[in-house]
Amino acid sequence: MSQHFETQAIRTQAAQSGNREHAVPLYLTSSFTFENAEQAKALFNDEEEGNIYSRFSNPNSSELIDKMACLEGLEDGFATATGMAAMFGSMAALLQQGDHILAARSLFGSTHQLLTQIFPKWGISHTYADISRTHEWESLIKPETKMIFVETPSNPGLEIIDLEWLGKLAEAHNLILVVDNCFATPYLQQPAKWGAHIVSHSATKFIDGQGRVLGGLIMGSKELIKDVRFFSRHTGPAISPFNAWVLSKSLETLAVRMDRHCESALKIAEYLEGHTELESVKYPFLESHPQFDLAKKQMLKGGGILTFIVKGGGERCSKFVNNLQMLSGTSNLGDTRTIVTHPASTTHSKLSEEERHRVGIADGLIRLSVGLENVNDIIEDIEQALKASK
Ligand SMILES: *Cc1c(COP(=O)(O)O)cnc(C)c1O
Repeated sequence: MSQHFETQAIRTQAAQSGNREHAVPLYLTSSFTFENAEQAKALFNDEEEGNIYSRFSNPNSSELIDKMACLEGLEDGFATATGMAAMFGSMAALLQQGDHILAARSLFGSTHQLLTQIFPKWGISHTYADISRTHEWESLIKPETKMIFVETPSNPGLEIIDLEWLGKLAEAHNLILVVDNCFATPYLQQPAKWGAHIVSHSATKFIDGQGRVLGGLIMGSKELIKDVRFFSRHTGPAISPFNAWVLSKSLETLAVRMDRHCESALKIAEYLEGHTELESVKYPFLESHPQFDLAKKQMLKGGGILTFIVKGGGERCSKFVNNLQMLSGTSNLGDTRTIVTHPASTTHSKLSEEERHRVGIADGLIRLSVGLENVNDIIEDIEQALKASK
């Protein structure tokens, strides 16, 4: 019986322990015992599958991985302690000295640091390509290019990349296509359907959805994940059993939460569009979004994040943030609570001004992660803070 998304998110569970529990228990154990010396040998030599040590695997992380594999339509995965460990692992495990990454320019701040400050130390280079200039991408592929890395929608530019086109480009040049699917989650978009080989996540965001735990996921084919698992087993980024347990539970409500995030985000985007105090509003499912048709094609809904540019630039943004009464000023996203972030002075402050402008981060840009509060209360707080910041 092939199950629907919500059913898979709820019914993919670790096997019962023998206590006939309904909810999966938390396996707080660093290691697992061997029945005998022969089993120990078989487990260590990959002749038998099973848990050895929680740095390698644990029933809670395995359940999270199995569930995500169903939801992303991929075979296997590895769960990491943070999203950045997942971004790092999905690149470092599959690349070697001398390899080159073609990456979309609009990326999460720490991923940008990884490409520009950390990988060069080991001789792994990158070239940034602009989403608006897809005709140039093919010419940027070098003989040593091994991987394409993108976010769609991107953080915080909300740029949408044509995954079908990218899947074909990767295939034609025999490149590994990695998609950071953090903003969409598998509920809104399954990059593997379009040819992505690795789908990586910060599970800290919408997958937890309640601002409690950090986590990351690297999902892919059995073949690629074999290398990711080897790399991770010996470098140690494994998620804690507790965080994996929380995240697996969170996935049970992903669909209902995303439905509400998206419904409210669209309402707020429509309300704010044309507002006299704003220069512009961006949301993938607003017709005014430059890639609206593409967003409709590859995403079920528009997601929980929107951005707007406040008239008056960075100074006005500070006043706006300081005048909010309910919305949270914090750098996380994908929470039940609506979060307001000023990327130019926080998450993307390490980029040069020129780099920021190239990826569309104006000084007056505000990123709104729309929570699950009543949408009218969210709008009211934005409205009063805009007035008070004049
Ligand atoms: C937050 C985020 C990350 C990093 O995840 P952490 O869990 O904070 O390490 C990576 N990519 C995107 C798009 C993000 O929003």
